[in-house]
Amino acid sequence: MIVLDKVHKCYGPTAVLRDCSATIKLGEVVVVCGPSGSGKSTLIKCINGLVPFDRGTITVDGVSVADKHTDLPALRAQIGMVFQNFELYPHMTALQNVSLAQIHVLKRSRAQADARSEQLLARVGLANKLASRPGQLSGGQQQRVSIARALAMDPKAMLFDEPTSALDPEMVNEVLEVMQALALEGMTMMVVTHEMGFAQRVAERVLFMDGGEILEDSPKAQFFAHPSTERARQFLTKVL
Ligand code: ATP
Ligand code: MG
Repeated sequence: MIVLDKVHKCYGPTAVLRDCSATIKLGEVVVVCGPSGSGKSTLIKCINGLVPFDRGTITVDGVSVADKHTDLPALRAQIGMVFQNFELYPHMTALQNVSLAQIHVLKRSRAQADARSEQLLARVGLANKLASRPGQLSGGQQQRVSIARALAMDPKAMLFDEPTSALDPEMVNEVLEVMQALALEGMTMMVVTHEMGFAQRVAERVLFMDGGEILEDSPKAQFFAHPSTERARQFLTKVL
């Protein structure tokens, strides 16, 4: 469903992605981990065209992200993206945040959009917070609103970039539980996270990045039991 083939990207003279290749199959959950600056965020931002790359190809369901004939806004609407810092509109309620792109991008009527938003906010455990603005919600609740907002576009896949790393520890689980439920429903997911418990429970495969390279792409059991590179071994001793 998502295929990366030798994706290479430089910022000035520095290569931040080096010939990265990987395939994420329909319904698969892949965790991406690695030290700070290893290129994880850049890699997933390339997938929905938020960041351009220099060489290689990325296709989503056969559609090439970098092809100039590709309708990038349409492609982006099919890939939900959840960031570390929620990126909700502070002056809008939870319901309005989830409805906005449905109305403007999918051209749903406000009534249709709001009905879908209510459904999705209930699904992430926020049925009683529809009218709350982000400032009135905890970090975990805000992140669940942003997951609902991404789901509102009926995406084919979801990309998460450290969705729990800005949260207080007691709020991490409520977000991971929503993500785990989504995975169990068969959503195709690529998740940048240092939550190795989540990776062990939910992921099928783990990609380990360092220095812009995908150094490992292994089934999770193999990754945790026998990482094949010294750098992954060292990383695991720090995060486990
Ligand atoms: P972290 O775990 O800290 O989020 P990361 O693995 O997500 O790190 P990236 O954000 O992808 O890493 O960054 C990879 C490299 O690219 C880093 O060296 C970073 O400094 C560099 N980089 C990222 N964005 C830019 C930019 N807009 N301009 C120049 N360099 C950048
Ligand atoms: Mg990052």
